[in-house]
Amino acid sequence: MKVAEIMANLEKKYGHEKEYLQAVHEVLESIEEVYNQHPEFEKAKIVERIVEPDRVFTFRVAWVDDKGEVQTNIGYRVQFNSAIGPYKGGIRFHPAVNVSMLKFLGFEQTFKNALTTLPMGGGKGGSDFDPVGKSNGEIMRFCQAYMLELWHCIGPDQDVPAGDVGVGAREIGYFVGMYSKLARQYNTGVLTGKGLNWGGSILRPEATGFGALYFTEHVLAKAGKNIKGKTVAISGFGNVAWGAATKAAELGAKVIAISGPDGVCALPNGINKEMIDYMLVMRASNRNKVQDMADKFPGQAIFTPGKKAWSMKCDIALPCAFQNELNGDDAKELIANGTWCCCEVSNMGCTPEAIAAFQSTKGFLFAPGKAVNAGGVATSGLEMTQNASHISWSGKEVDEKLHFIMESIHAQCVKFGQRKDGTVDYVKGANIAGFMKVAQAMLEQGVI
Ligand code: GLU
Repeated sequence: MKVAEIMANLEKKYGHEKEYLQAVHEVLESIEEVYNQHPEFEKAKIVERIVEPDRVFTFRVAWVDDKGEVQTNIGYRVQFNSAIGPYKGGIRFHPAVNVSMLKFLGFEQTFKNALTTLPMGGGKGGSDFDPVGKSNGEIMRFCQAYMLELWHCIGPDQDVPAGDVGVGAREIGYFVGMYSKLARQYNTGVLTGKGLNWGGSILRPEATGFGALYFTEHVLAKAGKNIKGKTVAISGFGNVAWGAATKAAELGAKVIAISGPDGVCALPNGINKEMIDYMLVMRASNRNKVQDMADKFPGQAIFTPGKKAWSMKCDIALPCAFQNELNGDDAKELIANGTWCCCEVSNMGCTPEAIAAFQSTKGFLFAPGKAVNAGGVATSGLEMTQNASHISWSGKEVDEKLHFIMESIHAQCVKFGQRKDGTVDYVKGANIAGFMKVAQAMLEQGVI
């Protein structure tokens, strides 16, 4: 396999799908050497097959807004790869959603899910619907209209969607309600991230952020460091940022910033419980403005418009918002300000230039999203297990399992990413570990 050749072919076919090509390039670069030591992969054309989704559904979603006007959006579901289990992955509502974004996310999800140790394939869905400024009624009607089409494609052993950017517990509730109505079956395990009273798993809302901090602890421990007393900058203020801020504060770190599309909020005394709770209010308001934090806590939260969290002086940077939210210039600014660790919590949160800047800085610790944020989907997997066996575990049980999973993902990264000097290339480690598992399954299942 030659990465350049495969990429040239993909660029010819999908030149306009920038995020998808970026995600594929990162994985192929990491696995090239190992792959070429396996002639059986080459013979079965594993790479040529693994970069293509199994199928992509695109559909019209028509709905009526509060003014009585008809609105039309596009809905998608990308079923990327089911070699190791049913398709599994979130649904994203954001105006920039398109096929490229969902193919990149479905591709990443395939390897991430393989890392979790659980039997889940990769998928992703979404719509260009923009939840910002929408009423609760509009959100409900949109979710119902989206599910009217999607319900044919999903099932507990077929494809199990969950939340992502713009989709949380409220939207999952509307999806499940409409799905049950159409299917005339409860099918508890058809979506994850459900409410705790109707099949949801304790700790699922916290799991992405908590898992990310457990992983960060392992990265730091491997380098002989500790999170206690360290300053942390977090981007975003949604579900993932909330979980990360909660656990970072609990572990004794000082969260000195959160951010939004409108700017950054510096938190000179660190984040406190009231602010963490207020992040949930901000998310539920659908306003998408981090300035609201500064208005609510004057003096304790200081808003600067137009600035990113990466302009803040911190030890550890945690991107928790969107792909490519931390670019090469941001990385250089962080490094110049003394930051020495970045654990990517968002999917593909750092651009290739940012990753290169981090990795070429001696002693800098960088870990990629597909390892760091895998605790979210892993806990979705635990929700599926509880649903299939009609039981529910305690918070302690789920947290222990999450700890075990994050430790095991870290161990896989070390196994495949350890450099000669003892440091770890987490990008390479995560990509090779995830790829090997899916590739082996595809090989054993024949050409399909
Ligand atoms: N959207 C999350 C992710 O990127 C969670 C997916 C899930 O729970 O299925 O992994």
